Amino acid sequence: MRYISTRGGMAPAAFSDILLGGLAPDGGLTLPEDYPTVTPAELAGWRGLSYPELAFAILQRFADDIPAADLHALIDKTYTVAAFRTEAIAPVTPLADGIWLLGLSNGPTLAFKDIALQLLGNLFEYALLQTGGHLNILGATSGDTGSSAEYAMRGKRGIRVFMLSPHRKMSRFQTAQMFSLQDPNIFNLAVRGVFDDCQDIVKAVSNDTAFKARYSIGTVNSINWARVAAQIVYYFKGWLAVTTHDDQEVSFAVPSGNFGNICAGYIAKRMGLPIRRLILATNENDVLNEFFRTGIYRVRKSEQVAHTSSPSMDISKASNFERFIYDAVGRDPAVVRALWQQLDTQGFFDLSATPYFQTIRQSGFVSGSSTHQDRMATIRRVYQESGIVIDTHTADGVKVGLEHREADLPLICVETALPAKFEESIVEALGHPPERPAGYEDLEDLPQRFEVVDVDVNQIQDYIVRHAD
Ligand SMILES: *Cc1c(COP(=O)(O)O)cnc(C)c1O
Repeated sequence: MRYISTRGGMAPAAFSDILLGGLAPDGGLTLPEDYPTVTPAELAGWRGLSYPELAFAILQRFADDIPAADLHALIDKTYTVAAFRTEAIAPVTPLADGIWLLGLSNGPTLAFKDIALQLLGNLFEYALLQTGGHLNILGATSGDTGSSAEYAMRGKRGIRVFMLSPHRKMSRFQTAQMFSLQDPNIFNLAVRGVFDDCQDIVKAVSNDTAFKARYSIGTVNSINWARVAAQIVYYFKGWLAVTTHDDQEVSFAVPSGNFGNICAGYIAKRMGLPIRRLILATNENDVLNEFFRTGIYRVRKSEQVAHTSSPSMDISKASNFERFIYDAVGRDPAVVRALWQQLDTQGFFDLSATPYFQTIRQSGFVSGSSTHQDRMATIRRVYQESGIVIDTHTADGVKVGLEHREADLPLICVETALPAKFEESIVEALGHPPERPAGYEDLEDLPQRFEVVDVDVNQIQDYIVRHAD
């Protein structure tokens, strides 16, 4: 399998060549030249597979330049009961008749990002051992992504993580999750500022190309192709768990922000998985819902982003969206370049009057948005009907999923975090806190390891110089 860029300016490359990278050299996103297809007979043969076996069957097609035995070992090492607290890795639980919850939040940070990032940690370590290279990952986080990345990279040879977070602005749980890590390759830098300051520092350091090259600075953001690939697996897993015959269709409801999760579902559908609808749910930050309803993709300014009770979906633009648009415009990189040029100059593009939008309307995507009141009502309703407590992000998905549900068609609602991460919202909805999984009871009491720094690029570069691998 060879990978190309959505902007058309990258020579076709192998999986291992694009593994450690973020953006393609031409500023686009990487995608396979062709999607592999899965026949109904192959699908039928996957029914009895364990999660690691299924992951291998699928990922082997995308990472075909990693020797099969090595890839198998990396996958087996990743998807364990020890890391995900359940043999199923992504267990499926009934919520109501014909409605299911696909549990993706049993990894170390209790959010779905662990499923991809835990594998990424092992893939990165493997790739760096092959080349003798090393990587200093620099990131900014307001909570979820940073902790997932740290738990994926802790203790990995050849990798150090420098994670910037706004000092005293994350929840106690999120802070404790990150700062309690004692691994010597993890560096928590609490910046005296807000999240945007952290992000600006990361940008400034990344734009210093000499520094970036000298200290092998990398990132682990959601545009990384391997993350999308790893997420394809659980769409197959969900389908296999709720269907009994090979052409049976299901729909998925997906709480969305950067379009990474649902992009994986879209690719699973392109591979031949019988998915009828991909139901995209946003919160009040409804950039993507607006697009699927109107054909207009209008990015927001950071001051226009609402801070909501499903904070991991508070986005101004959807960084993975270019992958989908590339396909929607017939894989013509010139059209993609023109559209993103327009985004830069005007802040939006409008496909409503183009044939592309007709194609998009037939692609299976439908969408809707959800408010704080909707989340509270949905958490209560699901709890009353099933006894299951869902988190605020998952509630956005369930709310919109139920609006687009078709009779007689299984609806799989993707769970993106455990309620324990968002205790205050659960108390507001139900009047009592959610259960914490075993081992997390005293998280906030553990000793914390972090350093407070100023909003100062030089100070942070200096810190990296002193602590880099
Ligand atoms: C990251 C995240 C999302 C959004 O996923 P995307 O891949 O960015 O669309 C939704 N819910 C939770 C809990 C998340 O952490």
